Amino acid sequence: MSNQLTRMKKRKLREKDKGIIDFVRMQNHFFPKLIEELGEVEDPRKENYTEYTSEELLYPIILKNSCTVETMRQMTEWFGDANCASNLGKLIGRKIENIAHYDTINNFLEKLEISELNNVKVGMVKRLIRNKSFYQARMRENQWIVILDGTGLYHFREKHCENCLVKEIIDKEGNKKKVYYHNVLEAKIIIAENIVISLGTEFIENESEDVDKQDCEINASKRLLKRIKEEFPKLKICILGDSLYAVESIIDICKDSDWNYLLRCKEGRQKNLIMDYRYVLESGEYGEKKNILEEEKGTAKYVNHVEEITGKDFTANIFEYEYEQISKRTNKKNTVKFQWITDIELTNRNIEEMVKCGRKRWKIENEGFNTQKNILYKIEHLNSKNPNAMKNHYLLTQITDILMQLYLAGTKVLKELKQAIKNTSSRLLETFRRAIVTDEDVSYIKKYTTVHFT
Ligand SMILES: [Zn+2]
Repeated sequence: MSNQLTRMKKRKLREKDKGIIDFVRMQNHFFPKLIEELGEVEDPRKENYTEYTSEELLYPIILKNSCTVETMRQMTEWFGDANCASNLGKLIGRKIENIAHYDTINNFLEKLEISELNNVKVGMVKRLIRNKSFYQARMRENQWIVILDGTGLYHFREKHCENCLVKEIIDKEGNKKKVYYHNVLEAKIIIAENIVISLGTEFIENESEDVDKQDCEINASKRLLKRIKEEFPKLKICILGDSLYAVESIIDICKDSDWNYLLRCKEGRQKNLIMDYRYVLESGEYGEKKNILEEEKGTAKYVNHVEEITGKDFTANIFEYEYEQISKRTNKKNTVKFQWITDIELTNRNIEEMVKCGRKRWKIENEGFNTQKNILYKIEHLNSKNPNAMKNHYLLTQITDILMQLYLAGTKVLKELKQAIKNTSSRLLETFRRAIVTDEDVSYIKKYTTVHFT
């Protein structure tokens, strides 16, 4: 009986799930001018070729991404009928005869400057961080948490472009061979408990083929952080990162930008500071708080200003956290331990929040790119071999991701349905292809709404 009830309730909820209509409604709520802005990108084409406007070429890719249509060919196949064109027209507010072929779209993306889509993304982030609904994601002194995270995107067996990264590997037969690849570095900003979006993107790539030293995450993060400072000059930020980033060059940028930092630090990096930190711990002169983080009941220890002992000219407040965990696999007890360096003064009052914050980075790194690679969007799939189009596709995915996360976290019926993300994106595709968007839907999309993210 109760099973049947839940099934009935589920069915009713599913009927209420308007798919693409609610997606666009959420988009309009936060970015009422997005379509206009997509239309205003500096058009690189010669005027006599412009059968489609810029937004008619860009917005279908956002739809392709949110519906998890995996290839460009598939998009043209699935979006090819008159109903899709009519729906797209209703959603963007103008009559549309047909949706552009993927070749036309890729040609456009090959020529479009990547700064254009980057600017659209920056504008979106600016709107969100001014919105009071997201203020509670900030830290105690109103800093936004920004996480540095790099990942691999595309791999090639043969040289793909002048800017490819190269490494030598040994294949199964024991032969040396070269692999060419492209990586990306993201600075992601946390705007709500379950919403983490791209604040800045930097491609990790070589300037030319004959560089002595390849580009790397540290160099890319220097470029990225400097650009973020230019694009968001007044934003209060706390930079979170893996131990890889716990180096002076990154800490200096944080200092110069008036940002805080909270970086993981393992024994290898900042060796002397860690040694001195251990030394202070042994002498017993440290702060400590036990039984923190509810179910974990872990212990945090901290020492402020280790740099005064070691002789460094940046603030090095070091803290660690450990808790006992029973392994699900082996059923054995083991100790999990983390250690960080920060410029924020540590006290018994903020240490629990600091531990939580440091742990967040770890969780987000594990989830963020995984979702983008394996569940939604399939960002490792190459939509165009052209290096410029490739980057524009990536930026369009990050723009989609902002819309998608707001839609997933803010749409009431989805919260009640609790279905897998995969099903939600299938529903988006189904509604875009099959449903007929009516004038009533259009006024619903534009109607003022309140959105809650809890
Ligand atoms: Zn390349």
